[in-house]
Amino acid sequence: MSSQSEAVNDSVTQLKDPVCGMQVSQDSEFHTVYNDQTLRFCSEHCLHKFKVDPDTYLTGTAPEH
Ligand SMILES: [Zn+2]
Repeated sequence: MSSQSEAVNDSVTQLKDPVCGMQVSQDSEFHTVYNDQTLRFCSEHCLHKFKVDPDTYLTGTAPEH
């Protein structure tokens, strides 16, 4: 058995909308910079929710509702 060379995923990194968790493309028009990180969102709705309370979404400790 020869060593398997794993396929390197060199395509663009899929980014995740921190608000709703869906994957967003790097060229999403809905984005903001927070703590030197560029964050992208699926929609203006999620972008707005993030701006209202960014820490909630970045810590991942958002209360369930
Ligand atoms: Zn979203």
